[in-house]
Amino acid sequence: MSDKLQIALAEGDGIGPEITKACLHVFEAAGCMDHLEFVPVEMGESVFESGNTKGVTDEALETVENLGLLYKGPMGTPTGGGGKSINVTLRKALGAFANLRHFQSLPGVETVYSKAGVPVDFYVVRENIEDTYGGIEHRLTSDVVECKRLISAPGSDQVHRFAFKTAANFGIDIVHCGHKANIMKMSDGLFLKRFYNEAEKYPSIDSQDVIIDALCMNLVLRPDAYKMVVLPNLQGDIVSDLAAGLVGGLGFAPSANIGEKISIFEAVHGTAPDIAGQNKANPTSLLLSGLIMLRHIGMRKQAAIIENSLLYTLESGVHTGDVRGEKDPVGTREFGEAIANNLGKEPSGCEARKVPSESTPEFTPPTRPSENRMMRTFTDSTSVVAGCDVYIDTLLSPIDLADKLGVICEGTPFQLTMMSNRGTQIWPTGSIYTEMVDYYRCRFELRDRAQLGSIDQAASIDLLSKIGQAFPVTDFQPLRDYDGKPGYSLAQGQ
Ligand code: NAD
Repeated sequence: MSDKLQIALAEGDGIGPEITKACLHVFEAAGCMDHLEFVPVEMGESVFESGNTKGVTDEALETVENLGLLYKGPMGTPTGGGGKSINVTLRKALGAFANLRHFQSLPGVETVYSKAGVPVDFYVVRENIEDTYGGIEHRLTSDVVECKRLISAPGSDQVHRFAFKTAANFGIDIVHCGHKANIMKMSDGLFLKRFYNEAEKYPSIDSQDVIIDALCMNLVLRPDAYKMVVLPNLQGDIVSDLAAGLVGGLGFAPSANIGEKISIFEAVHGTAPDIAGQNKANPTSLLLSGLIMLRHIGMRKQAAIIENSLLYTLESGVHTGDVRGEKDPVGTREFGEAIANNLGKEPSGCEARKVPSESTPEFTPPTRPSENRMMRTFTDSTSVVAGCDVYIDTLLSPIDLADKLGVICEGTPFQLTMMSNRGTQIWPTGSIYTEMVDYYRCRFELRDRAQLGSIDQAASIDLLSKIGQAFPVTDFQPLRDYDGKPGYSLAQGQ
């Protein structure tokens, strides 16, 4: 058995093998292989093609679970039906809850901001598991589909904890939380509340929040105003690519998916099928992701030496074809060789990374837990039944539907209090101009609030059953009060 630290390696599809080879060449030249051994694992298009809809073999998954580290190239996702994204599957299945990306101006990489003399240097921390990335989708009626958006308190806590801890380690003195809590008051509201809850533990770090649309404009106008932004999953995904555009494109954006036990280091970009196999791809993103990995496992000296060489190489005008520059572009392989040859050199036009005198790997692979972990945040909250929202597929008018539902709920503890269509109230009041689709939300609440706590869920299931005999029910949502407050939102216009 090797005494080197083992890291699972998936080369990826498209340009993956070329850029991985270039990065490994640099690691080898920097002496990293004295401490590390890369263990190839099978995942990607060839696995999908063999009929495995996960795109990852069981052996590959087990190797990654055992080693706790995966360095991976980009992987193709079949579009439309069939397999899901391997990248998303791995992050979610292995609990890699935080996506850390660093966006920095690089010497020799011309951008609008480099020309204007505006330095860009900030991190995006994106929640990696929840939000719409649960991929929980249903066709509800002939005309309506839904995607459930889940935000949990423990999931939010994990990512905020990681963000503040990383900010403290990196000496970052301001962290922003991006959100849309003005519209999604409960889900983004929870994400935001947990951000400020964690912020209290870091009084020396300035914590601020910013609505996502304003954040996008500010990032374009004044990218130097941000140092770290923490975001829910989908918003983080979009902001990350916007941020990549600020520093010269996807070829320069590294990414690390960090979990408590298992972490995955990968390029932000995809498989670039248009240039695959042509020795044209830029390996910088994957190399920078590898440097985050080297730092994650304690090899700070090697990471700093390689980063200085990369900066020196770019500064001296050596670049791949995706970068605008005065000199002719070089190929992927030649770019990797130039970095390997420049090891020990430092850039002069930007601050060189400090090289620690010594460093060796200090990562301990995870011990396999005996069962899945249940995470909890609000352990002592109590809830009581307040009613239910029943979703119905019908083309009836609001008044006709309300009449029929009024009859159905006679003799039950519930009364119809509101109906909405696409989230906008259309009964008991509403605008005649509100346009509707075949998907009504019908809200039933206790006739007598004094009954709170004395009714169990069976009563609302009985009501559901009666409604189900008269209408196609497409969805059912129990309404509960939590610690005396409604655990559900009002309709627009209610
Ligand atoms: P892409 O990132 O592969 O390519 C977008 C454009 O950027 C292309 O013109 C490409 O040539 C260019 N580009 C990307 N990386 C480059 C690099 N390193 N050097 C030079 N140019 C580069 O995005 P896409 O075309 O939308 O997706 C292709 C495939 O990749 C899809 O199957 C997608 O699902 C997958 N994908 C995988 C990942 C991942 O593995 N993390 C991420 C995104 C997309």
